[in-house]
Amino acid sequence: MERTLVLLKPDAVQRDLVGEILARLERKGLKIAGLKMMRLSDELLNEHYSHLVGRPFFPEVKSFMQLTPVVALCLEGIDSVNTVRAICGITKAREAAPGTIRGEFAMSVQANLIHCSDSLETAQVEVPRFFKPEELFTYSDALEGYLYNSS
Ligand code: GDP
Ligand code: MG
Repeated sequence: MERTLVLLKPDAVQRDLVGEILARLERKGLKIAGLKMMRLSDELLNEHYSHLVGRPFFPEVKSFMQLTPVVALCLEGIDSVNTVRAICGITKAREAAPGTIRGEFAMSVQANLIHCSDSLETAQVEVPRFFKPEELFTYSDALEGYLYNSS
């Protein structure tokens, strides 16, 4: 089982898409290990988007991410990192594949509704960056045997 980090960005909150996006991830079979709302500080965003520091659009990305609180999720499942990434679609939402969250609901590079960890290594850094150990839950899911039948 892998854990991955998802953030439902301020455009998801503003556009009342939190439930829709959460439902898609949940219906796929991903288990919710953590779920909360939070405001992102400058410090947290500098860390989270450290690969973008220095890019001309970085200040805009930061202020966008601070427009409203975001919904942070930790999702669990076999290959959850790649699975969630595929469900999200590519960064440039206008060109994201139909059927993906970005492909179905977004038009922008910046306002693309959702963040998800891009690799297992990243996920292992991002989950503890957003969730304290006591905010993450381990429990059995009644349908897991069916969900992963023969993996
Ligand atoms: P992601 O992993 O698909 O979210 O993409 P990145 O890690 O490359 O970038 C992080 C986030 O920064 C993206 O989801 C966008 O919200 C934003 N971003 C990336 N590239 C651009 C850009 O060229 N312009 C603007 N305004 N925002 C961008
Ligand atoms: Mg990224």
